[in-house]
Amino acid sequence: MKIYYTDTFKIPLPENHSFPKDKNYLLRKRISELIDDQAVDMRVPEPASDEDILRAHDPAYLKRFLKGELTDKEIRRVGLPWSPEIVRRTRYSVGATIAACRTALNERIAVNLGGGTHHAFSDHGQGYCYLNDTVIAARAMQAGGRVKNVLIIDCDVHQGNGTAAILKNDPTIFTFSIHGKNNFPFQKETSDLDIELEDGTGDAAYLAALEKGMTASLDACDANLVIYLAGADPYKKDRFGRLALTKVGLAGRDRLVLRHLGQAGLPVAVTLAGGYARQVMDAVDIHFQTLRAAVDFYYRKKTPAELGIAQFG
Ligand SMILES: [Zn+2]
Repeated sequence: MKIYYTDTFKIPLPENHSFPKDKNYLLRKRISELIDDQAVDMRVPEPASDEDILRAHDPAYLKRFLKGELTDKEIRRVGLPWSPEIVRRTRYSVGATIAACRTALNERIAVNLGGGTHHAFSDHGQGYCYLNDTVIAARAMQAGGRVKNVLIIDCDVHQGNGTAAILKNDPTIFTFSIHGKNNFPFQKETSDLDIELEDGTGDAAYLAALEKGMTASLDACDANLVIYLAGADPYKKDRFGRLALTKVGLAGRDRLVLRHLGQAGLPVAVTLAGGYARQVMDAVDIHFQTLRAAVDFYYRKKTPAELGIAQFG
């Protein structure tokens, strides 16, 4: 199974910044230690091009982001200081989601060991997100001609507000977000399907809600490709989560999503999105569980739907 990583492109951050800058590296290390290197193929992707990015973003915003001309206020809204290094890392991170989508179409699943920057709008960034990798990648696949409709399943604990806003008038990409009702972003956008959860929601209630959301989303759109944002931040010990899922519950979430997609015979690109556990290794554990579930999905037998066999009854 192919895994695309970009943590080798370092970004300068002030001391004690709340962005978990070592998380993706620690995760990659864990994968190389614990998953047979025959089973995974880890690669640095190609960077996203301007042409790719402009399918989701305002040209003036992109130009100012690339040239370092964003205002202090715009940069504060993102919460990550602008630097040439962050431009480079962002391009590669978006490229990793594009690569994961392209690979998933041939190999049923692939992973970006990052991405899920779903708070980026067409003309501004927010919440650690400058560019929206999900929308850029979905539209890159459509432009390539192999994909008509895309389903986005956003299980990060925060609403995918940028994604919803960019895709508001796009009937070809269905957005499903399951998130904390009282959590950031405080002004929500309207996804095609939003499921809002109260503070303190635990495993059983979360999984029941997700089950309904998966069925409804798959019924509502005729997708050829899925992008799954597997945020680790619904975890009970997450600093920014407000929900109360356990690691076992989060592993169940991954299996639930992938079971539905397997039954539907749909290819899926997985991105990691947020994860701000007080102990960084807890976030690494949760993302690692997602990786394990993805590897299992890659190696399992093809379903009748994937083999193109009609099912009756
Ligand atoms: Zn989040």
